[in-house]
Amino acid sequence: MMLRALLPIAALLAVAAPVAAEGPLPDAAIEAATGLRDAALAGSGAYDIVEDLTTRIGPRLAGTEADARAVQWAIDTFQALGYDRVWTEPVSFPVWSRGMESARVVSPWPQSLAIAALGGSIGTPEEGIQAEIVAFDSYADLLEGDAEAVEGKIVYIGNRMRRARDGRGYGEAVIARSRGASHAAKLGARAILIRSIGTAANSRTPHTGMLSYDIAFRRIPGAALSNPDADLIEAMLRRGEPVVVELRLGAGIRGEYTSQNVIAEVDGREDSDRFVLIGGHLDSWDLGTGALDNGAGVGITMATGAMIAKLPRAQRPRHGVRVVAFANEEQGVHGGRAYAQAHAEALQRHLIGAESDFGAGRIWRFDTRVPEPMLPLMDQVAAVLAPLGIERGGNEARGGADLSAMRELGMPLAGLLQDGTAYFDHHHTANDTLDKIDREDIDQNVAAYVSLVYLVAEHDAPAP
Ligand SMILES: [Zn+2]
Repeated sequence: MMLRALLPIAALLAVAAPVAAEGPLPDAAIEAATGLRDAALAGSGAYDIVEDLTTRIGPRLAGTEADARAVQWAIDTFQALGYDRVWTEPVSFPVWSRGMESARVVSPWPQSLAIAALGGSIGTPEEGIQAEIVAFDSYADLLEGDAEAVEGKIVYIGNRMRRARDGRGYGEAVIARSRGASHAAKLGARAILIRSIGTAANSRTPHTGMLSYDIAFRRIPGAALSNPDADLIEAMLRRGEPVVVELRLGAGIRGEYTSQNVIAEVDGREDSDRFVLIGGHLDSWDLGTGALDNGAGVGITMATGAMIAKLPRAQRPRHGVRVVAFANEEQGVHGGRAYAQAHAEALQRHLIGAESDFGAGRIWRFDTRVPEPMLPLMDQVAAVLAPLGIERGGNEARGGADLSAMRELGMPLAGLLQDGTAYFDHHHTANDTLDKIDREDIDQNVAAYVSLVYLVAEHDAPAP
């Protein structure tokens, strides 16, 4: 156990006396940010926002009626939190629905299998697809596969995701999910089953998530097996007999839908058109209640803006804060792309952007992606973050998925990296529920965000 977990907050802050960093902001600004940081640690309200979202809305798959209820919830919540203005901007996308899903081993040893259809997947014929399994250890092995062995079969990819604090195992493993279907189809497969992209090796809960079809190839249905079910398939295959599986999916795309990015602002104390941009995505997968992905990010960033909103005008930072609850990130970053399209010309008004979309674990590193002249300011931010157990990282932050289009346009970014050691145990599963969130951890997140927001918004920089 880490030492800081044993110390009450007051003791922690006493130990970590302020370490001044050279930079453009005066001591008074550092003191104000420190006060907000410590107020967040004492109770930020983020947990209660996520509790309300997961209780009154719950799963909010993009394009469902729950999507519309979530949008209204976000509007109402921003208003109740005292934001100065709230509006919505349209985001259109195809509607995917899961429908029924089942899979079973037909022979040699009949058993049912726990699966989840992959987002975007087409369905099977009503009677299902019954075919022999052809197994590959990884996506890379599938690329080397030969059509003769695959033709007419169900491809299985068995790669395991590696656990890591920064979640790097996801990027390594997820290609089997996102690209496997089209390469299997290219070799003549009728369907694909993958080992779930997740780290819960002993949970019988499958992990969903998007697959994306390459337009050059035929579309085939795709689903994820829970880790223990993937083990079972491999155990049967080790016995050397052909394993025949029946897969039935009712999934498919049904029309178009227009959801909304919900955008809210808190003004700064000056008459400024510039602001710090933070946010998370409002949609979730349908299996859990979307507490970690991404109720947490919505709660963290909404609560951060609310802390600035509660300040008397004269005590607010110079510039404002804008919080965005992005529509449909999960099925193709539709909200983030719509935002970039609508606001590309206002790029100069965005002082910095930061998205929270990695659960509710404690923040442990502060990355940035800013022009050289902003680095001394970032050093001052880092000094206020240090007592939270946050180390200064590099200047190559990626930012969240919803900010990727803005990153490409050149918006400065901050990355407040969360501990993702346990995140992929529950990611995109029925287990993504509120009980996985710790109040103190989520408050630590808000403490970091509010420090960043206040200090950058207080800095009277020329537009980047
Ligand atoms: Zn997410």
